[in-house]
Amino acid sequence: MARRRLIAANWKMNLTAPEGTSLTEALFSVAEIRRDVDVVLCPSFPSLHAVGALLRNSLVQLGAQDVFWGEKGAFTGQVSAAMLTDAGCTHCIVGHSERRGRFGASSLAPELLPYFADTDGTVGLKLRRLLFANIHPILCVGETLEEREAGRTEDVVRLQLEGALSGVDAAETFGLAVAYEPVWAIGTGSVCDAGEANRVCGFIRSRLAERLSPEAADQIRVLYGGSVNSKNAAPLFRESDIDGALVGAGSLKAAEFGRIVLAA
Ligand code: PEP
Repeated sequence: MARRRLIAANWKMNLTAPEGTSLTEALFSVAEIRRDVDVVLCPSFPSLHAVGALLRNSLVQLGAQDVFWGEKGAFTGQVSAAMLTDAGCTHCIVGHSERRGRFGASSLAPELLPYFADTDGTVGLKLRRLLFANIHPILCVGETLEEREAGRTEDVVRLQLEGALSGVDAAETFGLAVAYEPVWAIGTGSVCDAGEANRVCGFIRSRLAERLSPEAADQIRVLYGGSVNSKNAAPLFRESDIDGALVGAGSLKAAEFGRIVLAA
């Protein structure tokens, strides 16, 4: 099945609202050229409304970087799925390794890591909330360097998928995307070799086929994320099981992100 390419920009804790809106404006021409590619911008929460207002009626879609699983109530500092919909979000990243406290080369003191405390269980709760709210999740999975060196890549990815998808039916997964994001490749400049990224993305698809259904696995887009830039994007996009990318640092400059979208 030919799946539409998806390129999502994870701005993380970068760009104020005015900076985000000028970057967004600079991307419209590229989205016009590549109407065959889904482009999703994921600003920080305070910029969602400003960027969302610009994106209304455009070819580019809006995503958030996280969500809380509760519907509403006394959850200080959290953001609900209804609030994301209100801002215009059609997508939301969930289970990013930085939210799971799995930093590749963290400058954080170990006692601060529990602050970033998502687990496979909380990722599952968030994912179900997003599906319920009709927001397309971009589910992140991936191993640390230590886990890769111990030969545990598949085990880690399998457990993360099982945790996130527990209680989810194939019929509910329309619009779900899974991003394979090896933690050691995120923000390090060490992109995963295209063939190896494709192998793990293929493994993810085979797990989705077993856990959901072959039909669901065939339509779910599997992305690669981790130090994608305009120079290494094309070989990744040539691989059969890589349907696009989740891009961090490479999405913060219009020219660079535009070249990645053009390579898709
Ligand atoms: C990310 O954190 O989702 C990511 C892919 O970051 P970067 O592109 O900067 O490695």
